[in-house]
Amino acid sequence: MPCTHINHMSDEDVKSWLNSFDTVMTDCDGVLWVGAEAIQGSPQVINRFRELGKRVFFVTNNSTKHRREYKQKVDTLGFGGDLDEIIGTAYLAASYLEDCGFDKTKKVYVVGSAGITQELDDVGIQYLPIGVEERMSITTDLNLLGAEDAGLYSKDVNAVIIGFTRSFSLLHIIYATKFLTNPNCLLIADSPDPTFSMRDENNVKHQCPGTGSMVAAVETAAGRKPIILGKPNPLMFEIVQKRHPSVKPERTLMIGDRADTDILLGKNCGLQTLMVGTGVHSLEKVKDWETSTDSEEQRLVPDKFADRLGDLLDRIKDL
Ligand SMILES: [Mg+2]
Repeated sequence: MPCTHINHMSDEDVKSWLNSFDTVMTDCDGVLWVGAEAIQGSPQVINRFRELGKRVFFVTNNSTKHRREYKQKVDTLGFGGDLDEIIGTAYLAASYLEDCGFDKTKKVYVVGSAGITQELDDVGIQYLPIGVEERMSITTDLNLLGAEDAGLYSKDVNAVIIGFTRSFSLLHIIYATKFLTNPNCLLIADSPDPTFSMRDENNVKHQCPGTGSMVAAVETAAGRKPIILGKPNPLMFEIVQKRHPSVKPERTLMIGDRADTDILLGKNCGLQTLMVGTGVHSLEKVKDWETSTDSEEQRLVPDKFADRLGDLLDRIKDL
């Protein structure tokens, strides 16, 4: 199916499209905001969706924050919403371990930030202190010291969680790899995102290495495949459905700026999809995928496209 630009839809088409979903799952960065600033028009559209009776969930592959911090951010930027309508990968990691009956006498080694450890606190799962790898000296043979030092902890560690951290280093890879020599130790990746968008002080957009790059480093060294929790893994939608069993995939709209995570999550779960052009992927990319002979690339084509989420406002304000 080719992608339809919302500018090419009649008012009648927009109206019937709007009536075809009653749940909205939206990515955050690149759709609702960039950095600390809301994208113009996005808060109004989200609030208009609620006025029209739609339930809105915020779904993000960013693991650096606890849901409480996201709640603060959505409130400050004018999006509103309840704590249980926010699903981040730090929360997902804690829920995943809880659901699979993680032995609470064991610990987690976190390559990431406090967002993850705070979520682990909420479910009573122990972890090694963030930055523990800094205690290891690398003045002599890496392997020998790594083995000795990690050995102090390794019998306790039954999971390695990798999220985003700005202080990612060789020490993280060494420690994670040591723990993962235990076949019972799980390797959990918060997200597969290879990059994410950031703007510098001159508002110029840059692509920075994301969690997926760190996962690839550990995966390569350890020779183990991770369990990837974030989008496009259906787990994010399954959590929404678990809490709200009335949510139907065919009546749910997934909004995102990145095709291989956001749009693919939609495709993997049978949701409707809308891509916006304020983040990672552009309409030109969508056109390329539409004409691609590669079926994997064709799956990245969203149902609908809008240059900005805010462009919807004019089309839905009088409905
Ligand atoms: Mg995004």
